[in-house]
Amino acid sequence: LSLSFSFSAKRPSFLRFSLLTRAMASHIVGYPRMGPKRELKFALESFWDKKSSAEDLKKVAADLRASIWKQMADAGIKHIPSNTFSYYDQVLDTTAMLGAVPPRYGWSGGEIGFDVYFSMARGNASVPAMEMTKWFDTNYHYIVPELGPEVKFSYASHKAVEEFKEAKALGVDTVPVLVGPVSYLLLSKPAKGVEKSFSLLSLIDKILPVYKEVVAELKAAGATWIQFDEPTLVLDLDAHQLEAFTHAYSALESSLAGLHVVIETYFADIPVAAYKTLTSLKGVAGYGFDLVRGTQTLDLIKGGFPSGKYLFAGVVDGRNIWANDLAASLSTLKALEGIVGKDKIVVSTSCSLLHTAVDLVNETKLDKEIKSWLAFAAQKIVEVNALAKALSGHKDEEFFSANAAAQASRKSSPRVTNEAVQKAAAALKSSEHRRATNVSARLDAQQKKLNLPSLPTTTIGSFPQTLELRRVRREYKAKKVSEEEYVKAIKEEINKVVKLQEELDIDVLVHGEPERNDMVEYFGEQLSGFAFTVNGWVQSYGSRCVKPPIIYGDVSRPKPMTVFWSSIAQSFTKRPMKGMLTGPVTILNWSFVRNDQPRSETCYQIALAIKDEVEDLEKAGITVIQIDEAALREGLPLRKSDQAFYLNWAVHSFRITNCGVHDTTQIHTHMCYSHFNDIIHSIIDMDADVITIENSRSDEKLLSVFRDGVKYGAGIGPGVYDIHSPRIPSTEEIADRINKMLAVLESNILWVNPDCGLKTRKYSEVKPALSNMVAAAKLLRTQL
Ligand code: GLN
Ligand code: ZN
Repeated sequence: LSLSFSFSAKRPSFLRFSLLTRAMASHIVGYPRMGPKRELKFALESFWDKKSSAEDLKKVAADLRASIWKQMADAGIKHIPSNTFSYYDQVLDTTAMLGAVPPRYGWSGGEIGFDVYFSMARGNASVPAMEMTKWFDTNYHYIVPELGPEVKFSYASHKAVEEFKEAKALGVDTVPVLVGPVSYLLLSKPAKGVEKSFSLLSLIDKILPVYKEVVAELKAAGATWIQFDEPTLVLDLDAHQLEAFTHAYSALESSLAGLHVVIETYFADIPVAAYKTLTSLKGVAGYGFDLVRGTQTLDLIKGGFPSGKYLFAGVVDGRNIWANDLAASLSTLKALEGIVGKDKIVVSTSCSLLHTAVDLVNETKLDKEIKSWLAFAAQKIVEVNALAKALSGHKDEEFFSANAAAQASRKSSPRVTNEAVQKAAAALKSSEHRRATNVSARLDAQQKKLNLPSLPTTTIGSFPQTLELRRVRREYKAKKVSEEEYVKAIKEEINKVVKLQEELDIDVLVHGEPERNDMVEYFGEQLSGFAFTVNGWVQSYGSRCVKPPIIYGDVSRPKPMTVFWSSIAQSFTKRPMKGMLTGPVTILNWSFVRNDQPRSETCYQIALAIKDEVEDLEKAGITVIQIDEAALREGLPLRKSDQAFYLNWAVHSFRITNCGVHDTTQIHTHMCYSHFNDIIHSIIDMDADVITIENSRSDEKLLSVFRDGVKYGAGIGPGVYDIHSPRIPSTEEIADRINKMLAVLESNILWVNPDCGLKTRKYSEVKPALSNMVAAAKLLRTQL
């Protein structure tokens, strides 16, 4: 663990000192917890299933932490984080630290153990879990604290201190990381029964005493630095919210005396007012900024940086998998060094590496050239250190020139550039790509052809995926099953799903997506410009991880992707069969996207590929085509000032996919959330004929948009039941919900459908639920 010490031990002590302080001005904001092969996931799930003990789980976790710390120490990182490990989520860890356990979990004080902790995270037999929501604009989800005036805070989890000591015992001095007190409150919600208007920030003086206790213990344990993550500083905060930072850090100042404090911000440029607040905080030694996303922060620093303070310059991207352009970063760092001073610059990651894949070493199947363009968390550590060394005059020429060669190969590689695609994408900007006829006239034309009953029923696409089905797919991929056998098996599955829907008397059918493992991967595998990893997992929530495809080049569609299966499905029925596609914005938002051109450019390219697919489906006689944009909202920039631009190209990309179809072809889209009151005009601007949306957990919110008088003429199917739960809704219950919708929406535009795909459910749940859904629709048709 002490490589750097042993190599310098023979030198005179002054030199050793200077090497240690100058050569290693490097810092990592945070590190993935899952492990290079998702070791934590499997340990957690085995523990939850009672197949292993708490001790087994703790052992796996401790081993992972030790290997991460050792890896960073070996690489030469100076500021190594601790307490960025978590059994579930760092915000939940903070809730535990503060003893802010909602009363329903029956916690009676003392140190919070696995029981209470995992009950809050996942619920238990008698109590549901706490709410989970997206962590800023990432695909990571945190557990939302539930707070109110009654909460009695107490120091109830010593995890931060224990991890610090654990690292120290291994010979690694770390920077303990805490979610900052103000961000913690800003990310909370009022508990049930607490008035919505309750000021969460008013709790600040109640949580600070706990923070002070933690700080005191960390000091006593030998900490010299402490990191507070205050990412909410990059949001659009008002003066009152900014004032909370000033207040909190003044209140902490005396407790923090003797410690170096760094406040980390990330995920976007920091607004001017927040920058002023941050750099005026008392008792703070340094500030961390994300210098990858946006460029305005750089200008702010150039415009003025407090003297004597440390700048943690986040130049290595924590949210992507591309190797850093080291030469470019080094020149940025040198410019910054000129401003903040030689001893005050620390090379860092743009944010926690939690949001990138873990270790490229395990990618044995990736093409060699593409692999040379990539850096996962383990490689990013090495990049950070290489930059820090170079900045202090110890440039590793070999490492830099290998990096420069990889950058050059990426720039010039023919597998990246496809001129025809670039030209076609560039030409798109001159037109709006709107269908010629307006939506109500189109709906009329479609109805003549489709002849659907009122309140037509449909589903979102996927049907349950049995173990047998997954096995066939897997074995076909591994070439253990012949193409012929595979096609036969999938055909049978489609036929079964079609027959079931006919029996249930559903109006617009789906083929069930049995050939798809994942709605983005399935398309990525058939498009040019995509690569796939074996172990490139990123934590989404708890033990759940996703493996985003890598878009490395211009995207094109060598041949039709879904026409074969959709045509077969349509041949099994006289009812309309929906063609089922994933939209460009969703493919983009759920992939690792190239950073050598704007996201919008890549999105337009995908849109063109999907457009060709839409038109091929239409030619093959498919009259209803659903283009899922499950993740459109996810890409929404954090700051209001950036949102219109995003929505504009995202919605434009969607329209491109289907502007060329006949009036009689019905375009559906689907979205996996209902929080779109603020973007409703963009959704209308997508100009789909029918939109199905997740809604089952918040009827009121969604419907209030329409109650507020938003003009909506297209078809709409707010999900009538929650597919995320195994519960089977009754006919009455579904009818009741449809009635609520009818009170707000015209009956001739309302569709009846579940709120998302049925892939994760069992047939024993799906059959009765859909049967009740159809019964409810039929019941209400008689009452219209
Ligand atoms: N068509 C997809 C399915 O049914 C949509 C999934 C989603 O919205 N996440 O599985
Ligand atoms: Zn969905």
